[in-house]
Amino acid sequence: MISIISPVRNEAENLPLFYTTLVDVTQTLFYQWEFIFVYDESKDNTFEVLLELRANDPRVKIVKLSRGFGKENAMTAGLDFATGHAAILIDADLQDPPGLIIQMLELWEKGNKMVYAVRKKREGESWFKKQTASWFYSLMEKISTVHIPRNTGDFRLIDRLILDDLKSLQETQRFMKGLFMVPGYQNAPLYYQRKPRHLGQSNFGFWKLWSFAIDGITGFSLFPLQIASIFGVFLIFVSLFFGVPFLIFNPLESCDRLLVAIIFFSGVQLATIGILGEYIGRTYFESKKRPRYFVESTIGFE
Ligand code: UDP
Ligand code: MG
Repeated sequence: MISIISPVRNEAENLPLFYTTLVDVTQTLFYQWEFIFVYDESKDNTFEVLLELRANDPRVKIVKLSRGFGKENAMTAGLDFATGHAAILIDADLQDPPGLIIQMLELWEKGNKMVYAVRKKREGESWFKKQTASWFYSLMEKISTVHIPRNTGDFRLIDRLILDDLKSLQETQRFMKGLFMVPGYQNAPLYYQRKPRHLGQSNFGFWKLWSFAIDGITGFSLFPLQIASIFGVFLIFVSLFFGVPFLIFNPLESCDRLLVAIIFFSGVQLATIGILGEYIGRTYFESKKRPRYFVESTIGFE
């Protein structure tokens, strides 16, 4: 039994083609299937389209969240409800080609507990998005406590073993690309060319991606905190070796330089407090232990 999981928001116009493509691919393979759609609030008639799909195909199952919880939480809900021996996460906008499922399952049969799709080329995305994404991934490669593969989205196959492990990762700030890699086991990349969205617009604007990136960095690295202490120690030495002689031999002049130095180091201090704040704020939210999603109704689960 294989669970296909798609979080959906504003995908009414993509769902019919996505579903038929999925059926075309899956009917060539000898597995049992469940198609889980996690409805993460929408402005269009996505939910009605899902109900229609369900009416014609009992393998379609729906988890309706009580409001929009965001893609990370919607995926978490889907993984929690999955009953398969393996689950495959896939976007419903056809940017993740369903045809790749075939190769994912082949690699799974060979003993891999996770198969993640790596984008070799990204079409239909702006230079800015691709460039910032590439900076983000190379930064994460250097500072993250777990290895997060480059150019890898959420499109992946996850074995039951890891699905159960993931349930014990209870953090509320869910940077899934990182969380997926925490359990470990044997895994394999699968390369593909990322297509542009079939229809509609991305649900991720600049600020959403920005806060997503900060979630990733703070969730998997203490490096930004360490920069502050490294820089602090460095400045102590600088002030001892240059500052003290400067005071002795040049006590009253160079006010301008002093002003510049004060402004500079006030900036450094504020930035450092800001970094501290990012961590403290997240610790604060984490300490509340709020549930990551609420389910309004489920359709198709026994
Ligand atoms: N999505 C979701 N909740 C959100 C944002 C997105 O369930 O808050 C779904 C969306 O319907 C799609 C997938 O997550 O199936 C990827 O979203 P999108 O295509 O907007 O992101 P991008 O491909 O631009 O990163
Ligand atoms: Mg997309």
